[in-house]
Amino acid sequence: MILNEKVAIVTGAASGIGRAIATAFIAEGARVAIADISIDAATATARELDATGERAMALAMDVTNEAQVDAGTASVTARWGGLDILVSNAGIQIISPLVDLSFNDWRRLMAIHVDGAFLTTRAAMRAMIAGKRGGSILLMGSVHSHLASALKAPYVTAKHGLLGLAKVIAKEGAEHGIRSNVICPGFVRTPLVERQIPEQAKSFGITEAEVVKNVMLKDTVDGEFTTVDDVARTAVFLAGFQTNALTGQSITVSHGWHMQ
Ligand code: NAD
Repeated sequence: MILNEKVAIVTGAASGIGRAIATAFIAEGARVAIADISIDAATATARELDATGERAMALAMDVTNEAQVDAGTASVTARWGGLDILVSNAGIQIISPLVDLSFNDWRRLMAIHVDGAFLTTRAAMRAMIAGKRGGSILLMGSVHSHLASALKAPYVTAKHGLLGLAKVIAKEGAEHGIRSNVICPGFVRTPLVERQIPEQAKSFGITEAEVVKNVMLKDTVDGEFTTVDDVARTAVFLAGFQTNALTGQSITVSHGWHMQ
């Protein structure tokens, strides 16, 4: 098993992509902290993924809350003796023309994606350096880490920013055996995307079917959604990669939307 006895924290793991990554990590032998702002959802997910409680633990963690991030990370290392993998995945989407976007909504999205990535990375790096066994920090980017779409100003800005953060982590982490990479999925049919379909239809004045075909999947090679399993398999590959040969990079998983 690729991640045998590795200890991981996955944020936003009670839903969608995070949940699929947690599932795949456990299947590959890891122990996973299911970190989410919703403790009820995290607890239910942890029970579903591992009824024994030995391979999955629920963690109440709002990634914008410094004290919760630090305490949550410490509780994982205390329980499982260290930390090997962080997947900074928690995220939201806000669909709005830039000129109509409130400053509060801008700040809310930036706090979850950018502050959250910083706070969870800092806590994880401290734990990994103390543990002296290296580690892998995966940031959840998006095709929107590389290109822009209308109505998504804060999301595109935040996802571009994560590329820079991963490169700094790669440079500062190298001497400690800590690698960092960004996963950039295309559209995946999770609750985050289901909510956007009617919102985009309204904003663009088109049908929901047209949003899927002509906005979301227009530039893929086959008109297909990326799946949570596609993203999870990529996360397993990156988390299990053993050397600094693969660090500071981004991998796009998108059915060919935005070939680099
Ligand atoms: P989702 O809505 O299914 O899950 C997001 C999870 O994050 C939820 O469980 C939610 O409770 C949690 N969360 C929200 N705010 C939080 C906070 N402050 N602290 C901790 N947890 C919080 O969404 P998803 O589609 O699985 O998205 C996961 C990540 O993947 C996001 O970063 C998103 O931007 C990225 N992404 C998604 C897609 C897609 O098409 N779905 C594409 C590219 C990138």
